[in-house]
Amino acid sequence: MIKKFSAPRGTYDILPENIPAWEMVENNARRILKTYGYREIRTPIYEETALFKRSLGQTSDIVHKQLLELATDDVGAINNRPYALRPEGTASVVRSYIENDLDKKEPLSKLFYIGPMFRGERPQKGRLRQFHQIGVEAIGPHSASPYLDAEVIVLAIHLLKDFGINNPKLKINSLGSKEDKEHIAVWLRGELGKHKKELCEDCQDRFERNVFRVLDCKNEQCKNIAGAIINRLYGQGLPLSEASRKYFEQVQSCLKNAGLDFEISPSLVRGLDYYIHTVFEIIAEGLGSQDAVAAGGRYDGLIHELGGNEKIAYGAMGVALGIDRILLASGHRQEIPMAMDAFVISMDPKQAFVFVHLLRQSGISADMGFTGGSFKSQMNRANKLNARFALILGEEELKNKMVSMKNMSDGKQEMVGIEECVRILAAN
Ligand code: ATP
Ligand code: MG
Repeated sequence: MIKKFSAPRGTYDILPENIPAWEMVENNARRILKTYGYREIRTPIYEETALFKRSLGQTSDIVHKQLLELATDDVGAINNRPYALRPEGTASVVRSYIENDLDKKEPLSKLFYIGPMFRGERPQKGRLRQFHQIGVEAIGPHSASPYLDAEVIVLAIHLLKDFGINNPKLKINSLGSKEDKEHIAVWLRGELGKHKKELCEDCQDRFERNVFRVLDCKNEQCKNIAGAIINRLYGQGLPLSEASRKYFEQVQSCLKNAGLDFEISPSLVRGLDYYIHTVFEIIAEGLGSQDAVAAGGRYDGLIHELGGNEKIAYGAMGVALGIDRILLASGHRQEIPMAMDAFVISMDPKQAFVFVHLLRQSGISADMGFTGGSFKSQMNRANKLNARFALILGEEELKNKMVSMKNMSDGKQEMVGIEECVRILAAN
């Protein structure tokens, strides 16, 4: 027995009948993002491992245990640097922003990307090793504005609703400025330290590496402990400076003005080091435990981390939407059958080939039976392909340079000239 191959664990094939749903999402995203002034950027699907380590933080779960690194003796040997498949899009976009001096070309770069991302996750429903994101990044010198935070959130909701997510649930929080964040970290470490032994093994580790991540844990006991601490902290009012609080209030009032409902979720911290101020997550119904379909936030400091001009104070705000989960939640996976204008039926494949070529050159979708076969089997094939017309080139038709057009929906058949046939098909 010859070994059969399967798609790698945590990946899947998107078969032709599912492509229309993907096209809907991608085409609508491109159209809608244009109305918000965003332009597409395409970066490589692998980058230097160091880029991800620097941007996501050594302590992030992604770098710590999910990075899919390429064997150095394949790609890395080129210049002895290790590479990894991209686990997310922000690091690459910021790398490109700096490398291509986009800050000198425009005051605010509004960029989006669509494509696959790779993480060494434990596969389960809605959690894959190759998944797909639509991401948006708005980066510019001196561009930090609560209006921009709100714009990115508003457009994420706009996209999700367009994709058929009926009740997207928006959760927001503010981590405050970098200084506020450090402040909160000290407080958290102090409080969580009292319960350290009760935390799960991962969280014991997180406690040391990055205490914010404990708030992200899915373990019930950790959730309860962290939840109580966070409620206590926020119960005394937001643990933020006056300026950060004001910024967050402005974001909220913009969201309200745009008619969005949201919930302030103090335990929402997002798993990456680079976030400050506004962070948010959007949840869809019916997905079980992997129910986040989009997430994002503000990451001004990352531009300097990756080598942006020290003299400039950059602003940066972004979101990433998970297409695979969106399609699971929206039910947009119904198989859409093939449809064609015409199927050419002939006992003479040479004649059929010439005719099919003529039709396609005229913009008409057409196919033929390549191995001939009986009239009946070719007619079956026309049916299967959902052809609007079966075009029959029999002996009589060929003799008279005519073709019989059979309308497959009402069964009516008429013999017409070749040019007339093309005209009829092209007209409808
Ligand atoms: P989660 O908490 O579900 O692990 P995350 O915080 O790792 O998500 P982000 O890195 O913010 O996710 O990515 C944004 C979105 O991309 C997620 O909300 C989700 O829809 C999607 N996504 C992330 N990881 C995966 C994955 N392994 N498989 C499928 N979709 C994913
Ligand atoms: Mg994750």
